[in-house]
Amino acid sequence: MDRKQLLIGGEWRDAEGGKTLPVINPATEEVIAEIGAASKSDVDAAVAAARAALTGPWGKLSARERGRLIWRVGEKLVEQIDQVARLETLHNGKPITESRHIEIPMAAECLQYFAGWADKIHGETVPVKGNALVYTTREPLGVVAAIVPWNFPLLLAMWKVAPALAAGNTVILKPASQTPLTALAFGQIALEAGLPPGVLNVITGSGASVGQALVEHPGIDKIAFTGDTSTGRGVMRTAAETLKHITLELGGKSPNIVFPDADLDAALRGATIGIFYGKGEVCAAGSRLLVDKSIKDQFLAKVAERTKKMVPGDPLDPKTRLGAISSKAQLERVLNYVEIAKKEGASLVAGGSRADIGTGKGYFMQPTVFADVKPDMTIAREEIFGPVLAAIEFADVDEAIARANDSMYGLAAGVWTRDVKKAHYVASRLQAGTVWVNTYNVYDTAASFGGYKQSGFGREMGQHALDYYTQLKTVWVDLG
Ligand code: NDP
Repeated sequence: MDRKQLLIGGEWRDAEGGKTLPVINPATEEVIAEIGAASKSDVDAAVAAARAALTGPWGKLSARERGRLIWRVGEKLVEQIDQVARLETLHNGKPITESRHIEIPMAAECLQYFAGWADKIHGETVPVKGNALVYTTREPLGVVAAIVPWNFPLLLAMWKVAPALAAGNTVILKPASQTPLTALAFGQIALEAGLPPGVLNVITGSGASVGQALVEHPGIDKIAFTGDTSTGRGVMRTAAETLKHITLELGGKSPNIVFPDADLDAALRGATIGIFYGKGEVCAAGSRLLVDKSIKDQFLAKVAERTKKMVPGDPLDPKTRLGAISSKAQLERVLNYVEIAKKEGASLVAGGSRADIGTGKGYFMQPTVFADVKPDMTIAREEIFGPVLAAIEFADVDEAIARANDSMYGLAAGVWTRDVKKAHYVASRLQAGTVWVNTYNVYDTAASFGGYKQSGFGREMGQHALDYYTQLKTVWVDLG
């Protein structure tokens, strides 16, 4: 049994009191590791280490040296990509192909992208009245706590850690208890790459205790959170007590809109990849498929046919494209939504049940499609966070836009059409932080990502992410 410790101030140590939590492989239901369940005093120690590191060797590095160091951390991650990808698959259940060729490479790329920004964060001179030189500088916020969920454990951590470090902050990373192994492996990689002690601390334990203690802590300057919308609301309420900076990347119920003039073969691929990539445990999953009623029947028949061919398999098999649902609780939650959909009158046209890959073990589920979904049904409104697609019809462009925007969420949206004018018109009217035209679920470290409405605020990736890890100082120099 692998027993993991906390990384605080450059040293690995047991959680105070020696309490641990099990980590389960969702594909085999086996306990694969024990992690430390940090206490309040561990949180205090991590905050003290991160604060001390701000003024230690890290704070004295030039921006360019800082960038080089972050680049080196990215290089080390690439060197260990096979081991880290395997861990990501073991604790999350996602196919090894996704971990090895998409998620972990993107995590390394994120570090190297922001490494390049470190010496390009600068202020400006301001033309003011009178005889004065006024300039601005961008300074780090201080100690950032990054709290991340279980669906893309390392990638979502890097979306926060990389810009935070590039801007000169220090970080306390708290992974989800279900998926802590890659964050811990990353802590070791960062140490080996030469990141000074205390610059990156990794502490594990439940959100309700460790997460809450971080959000409450007066020694932390910013919370960068990804997770459920209801948890995000609580984080915002708690952070208000100490007026921390916060960015929230929360849930979604993203519309994927298919117009009759689209390349329908491409739209078909986009509809299925949009929901089934990452087992649907993707905040931006295209979980509402909006289809023009003139093509609805033929199009949905093809979606159902394609879906039935997608079979879950052993996540460690390179040929597997659909892995295990991340936990028993999540599988039960998703299956419960299936029952609700049936009761509310939606038509099940593919999947709908738990799946067995031949081992009699693991939290596998058939990819599922519901047709005849009405906009007020539960599966059209609530985030399921699993491989369940809700297909809704629309009559014209304006109804498509109205239905797409009829959600408390606004994370992403897709539009499929060959008509350029329509594509831009619809993109401009959609209330979503990302709009994909004739594609879905594509990301690049240079392109910012984040929510409208109750999908949160702040942006990750791209230049704009840096705005959320720096504060502006204005300096007046009297020249009179
Ligand atoms: P949670 O909100 O429960 O957990 C997210 C993280 O917050 C975990 O590390 C968790 O710790 C921690 N946490 C839980 N309670 C608290 C608290 N009171 N204070 C501080 N931290 C806390 O979400 P899930 O893990 O269930 O993730 C799934 C949800 O996240 C989905 O609804 C999805 O929409 C959303 N999400 C959004 C994304 C986006 O980019 N917008 C990306 C990914 C997911 P622990 O798990 O250890 O208890």
